[in-house]
Amino acid sequence: MYGEVISTTHLSSHLVRVVLGGPGLEGFVSSGFADEYVNCFFLPATAPYSAPFQEEDIRGLPREQRPFPRRITVRSWDSARGELALDIAAHGDVGHAGRWATQARPGDRLQLRGPAGGYRPHPEADSYLLVGDESALPAIAACAEAVPVGRHVVAVVEVEDAAGEVPLTSPGALQVRWVHRAAHDTDPDELLADAVRALPRPVGTVSAFVHGEAGATRAVRRALLSARIVTEENLSCSPYWRRGLDDEQWRAVKADWLRSIAAETVSH
Ligand SMILES: Cc1cc2nc3c(=O)[nH]c(=O)nc-3n(C[C@H](O)[C@H](O)[C@H](O)COP(=O)(O)OP(=O)(O)OC[C@H]3O[C@@H](n4cnc5c(N)ncnc54)[C@H](O)[C@@H]3O)c2cc1C
Repeated sequence: MYGEVISTTHLSSHLVRVVLGGPGLEGFVSSGFADEYVNCFFLPATAPYSAPFQEEDIRGLPREQRPFPRRITVRSWDSARGELALDIAAHGDVGHAGRWATQARPGDRLQLRGPAGGYRPHPEADSYLLVGDESALPAIAACAEAVPVGRHVVAVVEVEDAAGEVPLTSPGALQVRWVHRAAHDTDPDELLADAVRALPRPVGTVSAFVHGEAGATRAVRRALLSARIVTEENLSCSPYWRRGLDDEQWRAVKADWLRSIAAETVSH
């Protein structure tokens, strides 16, 4: 499956919306998960092939000519128009996904696989807590839009500064706390956890979605479980990327990281 770029929009200082369309998306079927994502294949400049390509086109090529797979959340899928919106974080002059998004032009093609996902706001929860950075902001925005009408929703989102904020909407009663990295010189892993600890204690059953940078999601998980704000069953926690590692390096150690989190006993 592949999409052709229809438009790009800079939503904030760090987030670029790329809308894809065209006949290559005909087979796309939404999974129905609020955090559904696609695997996108970004091509190196030296690639002797272009999208759409087959496995046999790339078999045997040296590593530096093969596509770089990156998971990106489906911000929205408009089945009537056949349009897929992806919001991609640009982080300076590094990153195959981030660089591609800032340079994408109408007509450019992106090969995709998926979608898949794992979280839907639990319909019986009394309130929802959505926590993450720019990489999770598309999923947080989609989750905020998917909660039942009138239900309490708190989103705690880390961005560089005020220029990184984007408007969020919800049928629920939504409160957004923006956490500005640039305003703090504390341990970056603890920034979101500190913000979560400072929230008023929610009443009733909380469904929490904590995705984004690996160290930050681990610290938020500990903060929520140790204060018994959420139970393990009602916590969706996923490390999307790790500071200091690119996605190839992160995927090489991610399974060990997940095992060590699963083995962690959080003291109350
Ligand atoms: C299920 C899932 C859904 C995701 N959805 C989205 C999404 O909708 N939008 C999105 O932008 N990302 C999303 N991500 C995260 C994204 O896949 C990773 O951040 C990926 O590493 C970005 O690839 P890249 O090629 O731009 O950078 P890489 O080549 O992987 O990394 C280059 C450098 O940039 C750093 N880096 C990577 N990501 C970030 C970041 N967000 N902020 C600052 N520095 C970074 C790395 O540590 C490395 O030093 C998702 C991840 C998963 C697992």
